[in-house]
Amino acid sequence: MSVVFKEKPAADDVPFYHATGNEERLFETAFAQRLPLLLKGPTGCGKTRFVSHMAARLGVPLYTVSCHDDLTAADLTGRFLIKGGETVWADGPLTRAVRTGGICYLDEVVEARKDVTVVLHPLTDDRRILPLDRTGEVLQAPPGFMLVVSYNPGYQNLLKQLKPSTRQRFLAMEFGFPDPESETVVIMRETGIDRDRAATLVRIAGNIRKLSGIDLEEAASTRLLVYCATLLMAGVDFDSAVAAAIIEPLSDDADIKAGLREAIAIIR
Ligand code: ADP
Repeated sequence: MSVVFKEKPAADDVPFYHATGNEERLFETAFAQRLPLLLKGPTGCGKTRFVSHMAARLGVPLYTVSCHDDLTAADLTGRFLIKGGETVWADGPLTRAVRTGGICYLDEVVEARKDVTVVLHPLTDDRRILPLDRTGEVLQAPPGFMLVVSYNPGYQNLLKQLKPSTRQRFLAMEFGFPDPESETVVIMRETGIDRDRAATLVRIAGNIRKLSGIDLEEAASTRLLVYCATLLMAGVDFDSAVAAAIIEPLSDDADIKAGLREAIAIIR
């Protein structure tokens, strides 16, 4: 059976995503070739938006799971629940995607418990199977199933690395913050703000990103710039918007916040 792509989906059905390279083509090829995909990049740079855009373009359901340190394999595969005195099996999001076809996106996969990688492995090689020990089933993934995982190489500690044996099962793409022109367009499209103010926010982020690694754990993300533009569009004054959307989310340290204010004042 061949996979049919929706050639031109209605524009309003597809979440806006501004491509900055050949990532859309790569994703479509990975989907058609039934290969799993790993997206690497800092938080707030567009990975999740990219996946929802691609799922809509391909016309397949998307099951997104934000991984955290309590997330177990059973949260993904499913579990028996007691309903009205009876025990019934409830599929988890991964199982649902495998049964019905669709993209399963595991955001920040390194956060999840170790047993999660055990269920992912047989889905990421050419068997493409999901064994469900508890129901005794072995599900064969249909052509329309795709596994996508993301992680942020920036804030990995040594205990939370993706093991080479796991990462080598995926195609991988690196995401960074969009180039200044693209980021300006993204902020304008997302919020309706004018080009001048969008470009100012991008320059501010550029200055702050130069500081990152030295004083800050994380740089100002595209997401924060979108938040800032949203406040400005709602009539909040510039200094308050920048404080609430950029300075305060990035640091609690008074000296670092003063440094950020300076880096921003240079641009204004
Ligand atoms: P991540 O998953 O990398 O943490 P998101 O995909 O949630 O980040 O992106 C955060 C926000 O940034 C999005 O909601 C969107 O407003 C904006 N954004 C970032 N990059 C893009 C892009 N290339 N096209 C459209 N929107 C983008």
